[in-house]
Amino acid sequence: MPRVDADLKLDFKDVLVRPKRSSLKSRAEVDLKRTFTFRNSKQTYTGIPIIVANMDTVGTFEMAVVMAKHAMFTAIHKHYSLEEWKLFAANHPECLEAGNVVTGEMVEELIISGADIIKVGIGPGSVCTTRIKTGVGYPQLSAVIECADSAHGLKGHIISDGGCNCPGDVAKAFGAGADFVMIGGMFAGHDQSAGDIIERNGKKVKLFYGMSSDTAMKKHAGGVAEYRASEGKTVEVPYKGDVEHTILDILGGLRSTCTYVGAAKLKELSKRTTFIRVTQQYNEVFS
Ligand code: 5GP
Repeated sequence: MPRVDADLKLDFKDVLVRPKRSSLKSRAEVDLKRTFTFRNSKQTYTGIPIIVANMDTVGTFEMAVVMAKHAMFTAIHKHYSLEEWKLFAANHPECLEAGNVVTGEMVEELIISGADIIKVGIGPGSVCTTRIKTGVGYPQLSAVIECADSAHGLKGHIISDGGCNCPGDVAKAFGAGADFVMIGGMFAGHDQSAGDIIERNGKKVKLFYGMSSDTAMKKHAGGVAEYRASEGKTVEVPYKGDVEHTILDILGGLRSTCTYVGAAKLKELSKRTTFIRVTQQYNEVFS
């Protein structure tokens, strides 16, 4: 008989972070870099653990160059040619990979099988339609809390993948225990994002689409195979110029969250996070 799990499961929008006593005097005192030694490969990583998603619209070489300046990295999409890769990977030797799950037992299974970092998220993405097409998913905040607990118990690490729509969501993902946060939509529409600027009713926009949308599948696989449904959508996002502004906005927000809860380092954020369940995140009267 199918089982109904009646435990409360939450999304980023369902909570706020409770401010705590803080001795930090300035956001500049906050250290956002983290150092991890991975359980299985024993490789070491140091940087600000925000990753641009491996989508062909945002996971570009151009994006990687700017992100690297800020000690962050880009999961580069897989559709560059070998020649394009050779040209780029002389100067920029970095990358990371794993697979998407949302439950503690799958996280444990993957870590025990040799994975270092597990990507967490089914259906939260801004251009994802998995929940509509399949009915499958898991509210992202709860997925991160539960999967981080399982991973950390085995000295593994997780990436919260998808569903961050504003800097506050990125802070909530770290507060929930994510070691890394992967972002697609927030990095769409910039100079460093792929695609041309299009004029639409006097406004500049850029195309952004899911990697299993019709658009992506037509571009890379000649169409959607008969046995599957497209699980992504295509949208036009306002053109936002240089990605540098968005990066600084995210990092500034994250530093501010850390000062509100008294975390001098990003590493301390989840230990100092108490989420409050809310019915309204912010005042929408002028939005
Ligand atoms: P965002 O930051 O835009 O909310 O989410 C980015 C994440 O959405 C990606 O890292 C990836 O996991 C997921 N994603 C990207 N394209 C698709 C798609 O076409 N379908 C689904 N289900 N997920 C997608």
